[in-house]
Amino acid sequence: MKRVYFFGNGKADGTAKDKNLLGGKGANLAEMTNFGIPVPPGFTISTKVCTNFMDVGEFPHNLKIEVQNALEEIEKIMGQIFGDPENPLLVSVRSGARQSMPGMMETVLNVGLTSETIPGLIEKSGDERFVYDAYRRLITMYADVVIEKSAGIEPKEGEGIREKLNGIMNKMKSQQGVDNDSELSGESLKELCVLFKAEIVNTLGEEFPDDPDTQLWGGITAVFKSWNGKRAVSYRNIENIPHHWGTAVNIQAMVFGNMGDNCATGVAFTRNPATGENVFFGEWLPNAQGEDVVAGLRTPNPLNNLNEGGDAQNMPSLEDSMPTIYAELDAIQKRLETHYNDMQDIEFTIQNGRLWMLQTRTGKRNGQAAVRMAVEMLEEGTIDEKTALMRVKPEQLDEIMHPMLDEQAEKKSELLAKGLPAGPGGASGQIVFTADEAEVWHKNGKRVILVRNETSPEDVHGMFASEAILTAHGGMTSHAALVARGWGKCCVVGCADIRISVVDKTLSANGTTLMEGDWLTLNGSSGNIYKGKIRLKPVDLESNIYFQKLMQLTDRHRKMGVRTNADSPADAKQAREFGAEGIGLCRTEHMFFDQERILAMREMIVAGNEEDRRKAIMKLLPHQREDFYGILKAMSPHPVTIRLLDPPLHEFLPQEEEQISKLAEELNITTKELKARIENLHELNPMLGHRGCRLGISYPEITEMQARAIFEATAQLKNENQSPFPEVMVPLVVSVEEFTNQKKIINDMAETVKKETGTQFEYLVGTMIELPRACAIADQIAEEAQFFSFGTNDLTQTTYGFSRDDIGGFLPDYLDQKILPADPFQSIDQEGVGSLVKMGVEKGRSVNSKLKIGICGEHGGDPDSIQFFHKTGLDYVSCSPFRVPIARLSAAQAEVS
Ligand code: PEP
Ligand code: MG
Repeated sequence: MKRVYFFGNGKADGTAKDKNLLGGKGANLAEMTNFGIPVPPGFTISTKVCTNFMDVGEFPHNLKIEVQNALEEIEKIMGQIFGDPENPLLVSVRSGARQSMPGMMETVLNVGLTSETIPGLIEKSGDERFVYDAYRRLITMYADVVIEKSAGIEPKEGEGIREKLNGIMNKMKSQQGVDNDSELSGESLKELCVLFKAEIVNTLGEEFPDDPDTQLWGGITAVFKSWNGKRAVSYRNIENIPHHWGTAVNIQAMVFGNMGDNCATGVAFTRNPATGENVFFGEWLPNAQGEDVVAGLRTPNPLNNLNEGGDAQNMPSLEDSMPTIYAELDAIQKRLETHYNDMQDIEFTIQNGRLWMLQTRTGKRNGQAAVRMAVEMLEEGTIDEKTALMRVKPEQLDEIMHPMLDEQAEKKSELLAKGLPAGPGGASGQIVFTADEAEVWHKNGKRVILVRNETSPEDVHGMFASEAILTAHGGMTSHAALVARGWGKCCVVGCADIRISVVDKTLSANGTTLMEGDWLTLNGSSGNIYKGKIRLKPVDLESNIYFQKLMQLTDRHRKMGVRTNADSPADAKQAREFGAEGIGLCRTEHMFFDQERILAMREMIVAGNEEDRRKAIMKLLPHQREDFYGILKAMSPHPVTIRLLDPPLHEFLPQEEEQISKLAEELNITTKELKARIENLHELNPMLGHRGCRLGISYPEITEMQARAIFEATAQLKNENQSPFPEVMVPLVVSVEEFTNQKKIINDMAETVKKETGTQFEYLVGTMIELPRACAIADQIAEEAQFFSFGTNDLTQTTYGFSRDDIGGFLPDYLDQKILPADPFQSIDQEGVGSLVKMGVEKGRSVNSKLKIGICGEHGGDPDSIQFFHKTGLDYVSCSPFRVPIARLSAAQAEVS
């Protein structure tokens, strides 16, 4: 079995295809070498050696010989010898896993410097300062990585050997009155090395080894062991990287960017990773080693004159300082990008006027840049449409569509608490505790964040006036989450760490108490909550031509339709601008909370007999008709699925004493009577009581009124030469009888309205499939229904027996302890809830192969769930307006992948 893979002098044992064996770094070093790009020679010890080492705790006996042979190859190319007193070769020892794990594993540089080789290197380089600078770096890295970490020593925060050694150096700097490491003389660095070695013996009880082979094998062992280091393990857990992959080790001839003024080092991207612009972008430092650029101790200079800006504005570019080398680097970066067909993140070093490439890998980029690069590379003809579609992660579109917190500013802010990320984007505002205050403060020109234990439909006006919403309870499909997402508003829910006192107007979390008017910042994409204000990055979608082009591309490739969940003409219009092809769910209850309407609704609820109920409900008819008119018109000629009243009636009644007496007065009944009715209607979570079609069955007049409103609006639009297409949807059905009962009322009303108006129109009657029983008897229901729409919110809560409004209380424990892999209300549980969806589709289509089937639960906007719905054969997904572009991209990716 081959364990050691050589690269150098234009030839390599491996290629870019060998990532599993050589890790990303090793495979790309091999590829660049094969490609004739100047790469310092070296070799890679494969990931298999690492996994084997982890199993048996030792190296195979031939490895030493193989490493020795490869080292000799390097020596030949470099004309230097490892450990030679006159002409010493130094090497770097670096990790490199299959997938990049930035900063999680270890590196040791300058291996091979000993008391014997130091004089030789000073002689050859003519620079004592450079040699002792390299030596003190080796001592620091080796002590930290090999003697401390790899031995499993876990010092207290701030007391690690690296910190101690840095402390000694800082002390020396302040004694000499200098700011930068580069101002320390060779003599001082030499003295520092002596102090460092003494400190290592003192703290760790071990000598820094003065033998090149001991250093080399110490480094190799430490890198392999760092695969199972704490940081690396938790990073893999978060990123879902398998633990059995192992890391490779790359040993490579050192080249130095810190040997004098014709030396330099830098990192660069073949395109700008923040904007996506097709310009070579990067930073460099003269007379420095790579870690100086990354560590941020010295402010690097811009690479060229195309990208100037920020701190580096007046600093010399590489383009001006070393024009020939810059031209060579520029040519190489172009070749690399063309070869890999994607933006590359590269590292280089210039040693005595000679350029060496140390690394290339696919560069990370933000959402803005991902979209622009995908579109421009497609236009340049370097990638095809499918590749362009796959280049953007659907979640990255959130960054483009919502103002986000400035990352740098966020990093510097102190975390107050964490909740569930219910509405993406960022927002800062002053805290208010009631919806009414939110509205008043907003009217006075203030930016507010509404903080509630949970929200109810009565808070909607205040939610609308707020920049963002924070709740202590509730999950990803709670009221606050649904409403906020519908508006594209930032929202964090289920934040169990906060305590709210509406009476005292305080919010406390983890020992901090904030008052009304204090500033708060939410990151709705991560769930993080911060005290104070954080800068935002604004959005400009309209002039983002790359976004528009990407969206057009998604439409050319996807087969699944994308609709929206919207309850108002404004939301419908917004969603249409985002590309929605219809409404998949219009929740009619959201229309009843307006001041004027809620009273009629409440009259209807407290009515003691059918006649009074009818009288009250007919007051709602003109309002409903107007709503449906607006929505059908905004979507014409696309279909609009209108769901009949769904929530239990108690949700429409007030809960607070003061509001109850006020309402009793308005309704002309006693407070006692009203309280009795409220009590009677009260339901506990998970709200499976008197709701859904059960309401329409108990009170057919509700269904009649809603059907009349829908059809009258439709007839009116027909007469105005529009093309309305309503799909009336019956919620929470568990039996065919329920469905046919409601269908008859709806069909009869359609006939009545057709006669009354003398207008013909088309419509469909279908049902939500949102209870397990409905999935089980979907074949029977399909005999009667013209369409199905899966309500995966209710289907998830009834399959798990979790209440969607209370899950915030225990979800964090479930996720921490890995009892659940993810929030099932956010991403569909494919094996459980998903198998019910599959059953529903198969049974439904077994009777009616053309049955139109969609999904309108919150999962309709989740990329992973969309992949699943695509596989399951759904005709469309429906999601909140601001998720429509994400759904379009996800649907296209499902098709092409
Ligand atoms: C559902 O249950 O998935 C659904 C869309 O309806 P709601 O969230 O209004 O219950
Ligand atoms: Mg439902």
